[in-house]
Amino acid sequence: MVGLGLLPLIVYFLVREPLTLDNHMADKLNNDVLKLERTYYAFLMDEQDRKCPVCGHEVKSRYRFCPACGNELRTVCPACGELMETNWKSCPHCGHKIEQPEAKGELV
Ligand SMILES: [Zn+2]
Ligand SMILES: [Zn+2]
Repeated sequence: MVGLGLLPLIVYFLVREPLTLDNHMADKLNNDVLKLERTYYAFLMDEQDRKCPVCGHEVKSRYRFCPACGNELRTVCPACGELMETNWKSCPHCGHKIEQPEAKGELV
């Protein structure tokens, strides 16, 4: 009676496959949620006040220029007009690539 002995094994394999997939999906989902939480936390941190690197005046993260010394804290994407950090190489809102003036001198 080999067939009867194999049946539970076949059922096990049939049932096991989707379960492993589900676990995998759950892991992926957990990772995504973790990533989202981290992004949200970084966003919250970013919303907190920071200091102007030039004069030390407290500035809101949404400010484009320091109100005390006029230093440019953020730049604006020429493609979509969203605020960007001055050192970003491409716009996170539309993916527009920003040309870095200082990088041009390094080209050989
Ligand atoms: Zn300043
Ligand atoms: Zn943009």
